[in-house]
Amino acid sequence: MPEGDTVWLAGRRLHGALAGRVLTRSDLRVPQLATSDLTGREVTEVATRGKHLLTRVAGGLTLHSHFRMDGAWRLFRPGVRWTGGPTHQVRAVLANAEWHAVGYRLHDLALLPTAEEDRLVGHLGPDLLGPDWDPDEAVRRLAARPDVEIGAALLDQRNLAGIGNLYKTETLFLCGISPYRRVGDVPDLPQVVRTAHRLLSANREHPEQSTTGSMRRGEQHWVFERGRRPCRRCGTPIAIAEQGQPPQTRIAYWCPNCQPRHPTG
Ligand SMILES: [Zn+2]
Repeated sequence: MPEGDTVWLAGRRLHGALAGRVLTRSDLRVPQLATSDLTGREVTEVATRGKHLLTRVAGGLTLHSHFRMDGAWRLFRPGVRWTGGPTHQVRAVLANAEWHAVGYRLHDLALLPTAEEDRLVGHLGPDLLGPDWDPDEAVRRLAARPDVEIGAALLDQRNLAGIGNLYKTETLFLCGISPYRRVGDVPDLPQVVRTAHRLLSANREHPEQSTTGSMRRGEQHWVFERGRRPCRRCGTPIAIAEQGQPPQTRIAYWCPNCQPRHPTG
């Protein structure tokens, strides 16, 4: 599941393969960019903001892409067969003499002046994995809307950027809070923000996403995708339900015993 850590790692790998090198091929396979050609431009930097990826090229242009549920950038050596999916799912190819970067199932592909990136990412809250991560600002933004359910608030990238359903789910388990509790009833918002930051940071250097500390298959998560199975702490069956209004609906997983809906004590 591409969340902030996945995009961060993809950005770092793309930066290593593309930055400082001139593009020998540029192939943007979406109708609105079909005539755009970045060949001959040097890639200056690949940066990430939350779950958004920004490939900046000489001449002040940025190629924006977003993974949503299933997107990926894959790197291949020239002459090696691409293995990231069927050809019709390729949305972008950026290549230099040493690497072919192939973007599969990318969303919101757009080319815009670097100076205008804020049009696409300016709404985002503090980036959990950004160099300018600001937990106090994230807490302030969350607290500004106390009636929102915390499960929805953590997914709202305007509050803080990088959390998807996995880290939302696991953060709330570790903090002992139901995803349906109102933000205003969460006793320690800084703890929630700190926990999410810790989980993303711990996983950003590798593709696996473990919140339990175990990398073994089936042991990587506390409650995420464990509906009706016993809680690892108390044995209560993990609850599962939809939360939020379409198209923002996400599946919520929580332990009704470890994560009470209402504050206790
Ligand atoms: Zn439990």
